[in-house]
Amino acid sequence: MKEELNILIQAQYPLIYLVTHEEERAEQAIFDLAKINTEHRRVFVWTVTHGMVDYGQPRRTTRHNTVSPEAAIEWVVRQEEPGIFIFKDLHPFIEAPATNRWLRDAVVSFKGTEKIVILMSPVQQVPIELEKEVVVLDYPLPNLNQLNQVLSQELKRTKSGSTSKEVREKLLKAALGLTEDEAEKVYRKARVKAGRLTEQEVDIILSEKKQLIRRNGILEYIEEDETIDSIGGLEELKKWLRQRSDAFTERAREYGLPQPKGMLILGVPGCGKSLIAKTTSRLWGLPLLRLDMGRVYDGSTVGRSEANLRNALKTAESISPTLLFIDEVDKAFAGSAGSADSDGGTSSRIFGSFLTWMQEKTSPVFVMATANRVERLPGEFLRKGRFDEIFFVDLPNLQERQDIFSIHLNKRRSDISRFDVEQLAKVADGFSGAEIEQAIIAAMYEAFAQDREFTQLDIIAAVKSTLPLSRTMTEQVTALRDWARQRARPASASVAEYQRLEF
Ligand code: ATP
Repeated sequence: MKEELNILIQAQYPLIYLVTHEEERAEQAIFDLAKINTEHRRVFVWTVTHGMVDYGQPRRTTRHNTVSPEAAIEWVVRQEEPGIFIFKDLHPFIEAPATNRWLRDAVVSFKGTEKIVILMSPVQQVPIELEKEVVVLDYPLPNLNQLNQVLSQELKRTKSGSTSKEVREKLLKAALGLTEDEAEKVYRKARVKAGRLTEQEVDIILSEKKQLIRRNGILEYIEEDETIDSIGGLEELKKWLRQRSDAFTERAREYGLPQPKGMLILGVPGCGKSLIAKTTSRLWGLPLLRLDMGRVYDGSTVGRSEANLRNALKTAESISPTLLFIDEVDKAFAGSAGSADSDGGTSSRIFGSFLTWMQEKTSPVFVMATANRVERLPGEFLRKGRFDEIFFVDLPNLQERQDIFSIHLNKRRSDISRFDVEQLAKVADGFSGAEIEQAIIAAMYEAFAQDREFTQLDIIAAVKSTLPLSRTMTEQVTALRDWARQRARPASASVAEYQRLEF
């Protein structure tokens, strides 16, 4: 990013928007670049509290009457010397007609003057009028080297003052994905809590990081206790995942294997798509981040949704190798598949940004997307090569339903020999995994209310009183099956065989 900023400054881009939470680090970087480029190029910083101040000078050196955004911009226009003028948090004012107009006129007047305005803010909020004049840059999260400097400072404050290379690496990796300020805070907290920074403190740092990621509201750190063995059936899919469990290791790189990009799991609701994504995290030993697409969308300001998406992807990349789980991707991108531009084209733009990111990403972020309705997905999403594989999860067959009954009964009772799972599986024809689980729970409630242990008959009664989705949504399920038959890989071995027979 620093190089890109340098190029923009050298190329005299008059208006740059820098999106960052780390003002100090970004200001310092701009100052360093200003010095490299032209010795006499001065840097000024504007805030609504102090007006325009020389960079690094005490606040009393405020330029007179520059607290109002318009006065500050006017002051910048009047300057004859070259300079970089950083406006911190101008975004709440920028929509005001006068400020907006001042800024546009200022930018025009900068031609040939070596003056540059940098808008710095944690949120991207560019009014339509300025969209064509401004270049938006994201200030990246710190890399391992930068975090190392933060850690070194903190280690100096501990009794031992240093640590082994291995522990240092673990402490650093645990803080990846945080800003420098955040990293400093979590290291400090761990040091204060334990009086040291050793391997034992890695967990404190990780849990702090989870808190911080949760707070951003778009990504969620998911922890799953279940393993892949708690999924009944889906043998083909499980085999595929098991084969790739070491895909992100150094050993795989040395062997010459490409890093897997992602998978799309299509399927009937309640058949374990989300469960697969969650248990893969354990199987592969990688963190799982859920991207909440609903929260990405923010209609309040143009560009806000894109910025949300970019930030979330940036965080995921900085934590990589990681799994990025996007549930019900069909809902998220539904708008871009339809013709209607009902949301002003936001979903199309978001979809475009997401595809570009998937195409270009080099960091090991494995995307696990799930979808129930394929007709709502834009065609480009399903194009060959976009994902490593598209799997179709169908309703469980007889054998799979037996496995699912056994798994869920075993979770609740240590001895399940009194149940005839084959019979249960037969009665539950057309049931999804989720519906099987619900039938067991309903049977347990029934028996519990009568103060007795639940039985085979309770489960059969619960099954019989349930109308499964496959019957209420027959058309949808059939349409999905027809589509998937030709274009997706079946997740279950038996379906695979059935398909081989068909073609
Ligand atoms: P949706 O499309 O509605 O989100 P889904 O396909 O993602 O559904 P899950 O949320 O993974 O389904 O399934 C819900 C629950 O049903 C799981 O947490 C699990 O307890 C149970 N379940 C579903 N399929 C299976 C299975 N194959 N084996 C064991 N349990 C299952």
